[in-house]
Amino acid sequence: MTEKKKVCMLCGKPSGESICESCKSNVQGEAAHNKQKMEKQVKVGSEVEKDKIVKKHLDK
Ligand SMILES: [Zn+2]
Repeated sequence: MTEKKKVCMLCGKPSGESICESCKSNVQGEAAHNKQKMEKQVKVGSEVEKDKIVKKHLDK
C-alpha cells in the first residue's frame, strides 16, 4: 500500500492540510511579529544614526 499520509510540512504531525492549524497560526503570528520587529529596528537604526551624527558634530 502506498497510501500517502498527509502531514504538516512544518511540524510533521498528521494534518488534513499541508500546514496544520497550529503551525498556520504560528507562522502568521511570527510574520506579524517579524514585521513589527523590523519596523522597530529601522526606527532604532535611524535614531542611532542621528545620535552618531550629533556626536560627530559635538566632537569637532
Ligand atoms: Zn504543524
